[in-house]
Amino acid sequence: MTSLGRRAFLVNTGTCVAGASAVALGFVAPRVQAQETRQYKLLRARETRNNCTYCSVGCGILMYSLGDGAKNAKPSIFHIEGDPDHPVSRGSLCPKGAGLVDFIHSESRLQYPSYRAPGSQEWTRISWEEATDRIARLLKDDRDRNFIQTNEKGERVNRWISTGMLASSAASNETGLLDFKFARAMGIVALDCQARLCHGPTVAALGSSLGRGAMTNSWVDIKNANVVLIMGGNPAEAHPVGFKWVVEAKIRNAAHVMVVDPRFNRSAAVADFYAPIRAGSDAAFLLGVVNYLLSHDKIQHEYVAAYTNAALIVRDDFQFHDGLFTGYDAKTRSYDMSSWEYERDEQGYAKKDPTLQNPRCVLNLLREHASRYTPELVSQITGTPEKDFLHVCETLASTSVPDRTATILFALGWTHHTNGSQIIRTAAIIQMLLGNIGMPGGGMNALRGHSNIQGFTDLGLLSTRLPGYMNLPKDSQQTLDTYLQAVTPKADEQGEVNYWRNTPKFFVSLMKTLWGDHATAANSWGYDWLPKWDRSYDMLAYFELMGQGKVNGYIAQGFNPLAAMPDKNQMRAALSKLKFLITIDPLDTETANFWQNEGVYNDVNPKEIQTEVFRLPSTCFAEENGSIVNSARWVQWHFAGARPPGEAWGDGRILGSIFTKLRALYAKEGGACPEPVLNMQWNYRDPEEPLAEEVAREANGYALADIQDGSGAVVLRKGELLPDFSVMKDDGTTSSYCWIFAGSWTQAGNQMARRDNTDTGLGNTPGWAWAWPANRRLLYNRASLDPQGRPWDPRRQIIEWNGQRWAGADVADYPPTSPPGSGVGPFIMQSEGVARLFSRKALVDGPFPEHYEPTESPIAGAALGKTVRHNPVARMFPDDVARMGGPEQFPYVATTYSVTELFRHWTKHSRLNAIMQPEQFVEIGDRLAEKLGIAAGDRVRVSSKRGYIEAKAVVTKRLKRLNVLGQQLDQVGIPCHWGFKGAARKGFLANTLTPAMGDVNSQTPEFKAFLVNVEKI
Ligand code: SF4
Repeated sequence: MTSLGRRAFLVNTGTCVAGASAVALGFVAPRVQAQETRQYKLLRARETRNNCTYCSVGCGILMYSLGDGAKNAKPSIFHIEGDPDHPVSRGSLCPKGAGLVDFIHSESRLQYPSYRAPGSQEWTRISWEEATDRIARLLKDDRDRNFIQTNEKGERVNRWISTGMLASSAASNETGLLDFKFARAMGIVALDCQARLCHGPTVAALGSSLGRGAMTNSWVDIKNANVVLIMGGNPAEAHPVGFKWVVEAKIRNAAHVMVVDPRFNRSAAVADFYAPIRAGSDAAFLLGVVNYLLSHDKIQHEYVAAYTNAALIVRDDFQFHDGLFTGYDAKTRSYDMSSWEYERDEQGYAKKDPTLQNPRCVLNLLREHASRYTPELVSQITGTPEKDFLHVCETLASTSVPDRTATILFALGWTHHTNGSQIIRTAAIIQMLLGNIGMPGGGMNALRGHSNIQGFTDLGLLSTRLPGYMNLPKDSQQTLDTYLQAVTPKADEQGEVNYWRNTPKFFVSLMKTLWGDHATAANSWGYDWLPKWDRSYDMLAYFELMGQGKVNGYIAQGFNPLAAMPDKNQMRAALSKLKFLITIDPLDTETANFWQNEGVYNDVNPKEIQTEVFRLPSTCFAEENGSIVNSARWVQWHFAGARPPGEAWGDGRILGSIFTKLRALYAKEGGACPEPVLNMQWNYRDPEEPLAEEVAREANGYALADIQDGSGAVVLRKGELLPDFSVMKDDGTTSSYCWIFAGSWTQAGNQMARRDNTDTGLGNTPGWAWAWPANRRLLYNRASLDPQGRPWDPRRQIIEWNGQRWAGADVADYPPTSPPGSGVGPFIMQSEGVARLFSRKALVDGPFPEHYEPTESPIAGAALGKTVRHNPVARMFPDDVARMGGPEQFPYVATTYSVTELFRHWTKHSRLNAIMQPEQFVEIGDRLAEKLGIAAGDRVRVSSKRGYIEAKAVVTKRLKRLNVLGQQLDQVGIPCHWGFKGAARKGFLANTLTPAMGDVNSQTPEFKAFLVNVEKI
């Protein structure tokens, strides 16, 4: 394969396919040729297991390398194919995965460290020694000058805000753990990862609604659905191999597949039904479905009554009026949320009315709230024809019976909005009303994007987070007690599990991992050393500070913010204000080269940019051991099949080397608050190059003393790995970096490397890899049975009570010995024990979802009888507001998306993928094209208030003109894959067009609905 050029390979295979088809159709007689037997190409190859590095389907791959393992023989991977044993992919790879070998051997792979001096126009090669020496010195000097030990109030805060760090989304969990320790030891609060740019709203929405912010079911489980709604996602293109389980549902289960999307996309092409929608109006559509279900009494009554907070009574002073909930303060653009709560009884428990008659119970308030979203109004706001909308309502409603389920598949089409978390909340409400959460073939299936972005979210690599979905303390939480009191919930219903009550155990175990023997009861387990936050330092906020010249240094590890952040021109201006930038990446990215003049694609004057840049080459997936977490929370272990190219180092070695030098400098010179730097536990076999295996065991955690059960019997010896999180203690006798990973590497070995693909029922494969939490594959699965333990649908029974404990095809998401009829709710992370139709104070913009227009909206007037059009708590930096456009100048709604052959801005470095999609294009509806005189293949300029891109026009019927509130509206599709680096033809970064406004709960940018103009060039 390596000796055959990719273009030649494609030509040859294309010829073969055409020839074979012609024979099959009977046009030509088959010829039999005597041929020499070719040698089997995998002979003498070494096979190594790994996972695809692109999307979070997490397909299994087999990598074949040459090199016989002798000391000086260097293995080289020459072939990759799908792993037939993998339960999800079963040997399949999509066009992205099929090009992986070209990613490994990409000409853009960096071979050695290089340096760009201030004002220089070129890179200079430097040694690792020089690079790490200089970086350690730069970091220390900046930290020493700018470290904030106490704030203006005299509170100890120990933070360093003048340097920030971005962590990857495809690196292993073990790299992520080291990232966290490195960043937090230094006091970095501007720590973020790709989750900020993709599924932040999912975590906010599903966490507040159900208890955990993750995909509820699994890829294979999609086959169990009767109805599949794909909205806010396009899995046929973005997750092609995962999508096979949608097709499986159609084949085996006669599932009705519906797609609601601004474009008739490739998922729609194989669906049973497609409905168009205006980008940015999804919440109105979904609230219309809620209204339909409630007004037609199409809900699963017993489920709703027993497993949601429908019956709980809300405080009298909670109201909603003119688009605002009670407590709004226009000056601060925020809510006083005190009324967003339940009425309480004398013991402090929430009051409830099991008859659901009380007008103040959650269900009745929801009914009233959603009643404005009539089919007529929904159609006017969304542009979806009313009959199409009603078809979706009726089909979903057909699953309100116990023996039918609908699954909802979504991705960035829902998250990339200022009200992204509320869009997702609305869909979760629909699934609660239909009784589809916890059911095989049901659920809220958030299709995560990057291969390990689920893992990096789990590991707490976000500015105000800690591992395992705990929060980093804030300034006002000055003592451990204050913090734990604030973050440890009390049960809202008597007898509920309220699993977060164990937060002190998870937190103290984390502290023991971070500070080791330095963490003692006397110093509150090193609580003071953790940085405290005063505000969010999410990427949008941090680039705003950077643009103001308030940031000196930035580390971008496996991240290409110039291509990934919104409003590229503004981001580039911000990067130009940095004193130093450190990129750690296997590939040569646009971010590393932001200072280079690339003509229209990046029009800068390098001499004016005084940022010094270090470009450090790292390994890719194929050259490391480690684990990544797929969308369904499966933590899968992979193995290195080759060594890195040239002088590239693994991320762990890069971080380990810099951190070791920093510690040496602090030990020798002292400096600002050296304690957290020196006390951070970094006791690896080789501190400069920690092994993935030792880090993975650290993530799982150990017993630090003999652990006894309630009867005094020793259940775990000192030094043994924790079997699960139930044994954790808050007295310093256990350590665990990430409590939800406890159980991933036990005394029985590495559970993440398991390969038993036995189907225990309904497509469940608990012996393959390991899933958090506690190897449960279907979250909330106790809700698939009624309160008495009888399955709602006997064909979908996944757990059962065996008389003593819960057993079955899956691990019960429930106390193992709480019997049926015990009254314990199935949503064990919620303090009420039930799912939340009313989310209380969990989200900053309201306990019920509401439709608000995108920041850039084509609609001038008000709809829904309210004057508040935009999300009233959206954060608006003046610089960004000045860069917003209106419909007069920019009359078309644009939305960004991905295509099957390409993955974000990575695959353009892979020749096979670059050949398949070589040139940038935009998609324009045929009626708009006709109006503007644009023919297919013409070059067009698409502009927003923030800049322009030029690309070829694909003129299509896939984008329909919509009737929105009496106005004829056209939409434009903008794929975001090209740039000025890589093997594909140079193109514009599509994020040149997009606005820097974020979802109000997670600050995930609004990439999916903004205004543009289109002109023929
Ligand atoms: S990109 Fe996703 S679907 Fe395609 S091979 Fe990779 S993991 Fe599988």
